Amino acid sequence: MSAPGRSDCIFCKIIRREAPASIVREDDATLAFMDIRPMVPGHVLVIPKAHCVLLEELPAGGAGLLLEAAREVSAALRKSGLPCEATSLYVANGREAGQEVPHLHIHVLPRSRNDGFGLRPPPGYGATPGRADLESTAARIRERLGPSRAG
Ligand code: AMP
Ligand code: ZN
Repeated sequence: MSAPGRSDCIFCKIIRREAPASIVREDDATLAFMDIRPMVPGHVLVIPKAHCVLLEELPAGGAGLLLEAAREVSAALRKSGLPCEATSLYVANGREAGQEVPHLHIHVLPRSRNDGFGLRPPPGYGATPGRADLESTAARIRERLGPSRAG
């Protein structure tokens, strides 16, 4: 039987223990380990064990397991003694969003007051569209979610 995961995927190699990693948490569905190029001390990556690139490719229920793992890592970071007054969870969900490693991962980042992090929105940010605009955008998204999720 061939090894699970993708042979050319660095995170699948970490799951199979074929590449080094400093692991902090593991369960049947997920693995969490230290980012090799931390943005801050304590920067952890949480990944699904089943290879997928995008959040949307997770099987039903898979996102819950991944977020639960991130929740536990976040709680542990707050108690770890590392500077961590808060945490940010971040997913680059696709190459155009800055995803460099094509195996889905949640960054869990310890945060502190005035730590210099920021989300840089595109030019034009700050305007408040009219309700009609918001409604027509909402309608486009609702259509793809189906009537049972329309609220
Ligand atoms: P992203 O840009 O969201 O795809 O982030 C990829 C992250 O994976 C970066 O923060 C890298 O530092 C990290 N990374 C890449 N290779 C490894 C590795 N072998 N072990 C741990 N972290 C890694
Ligand atoms: Zn993979």
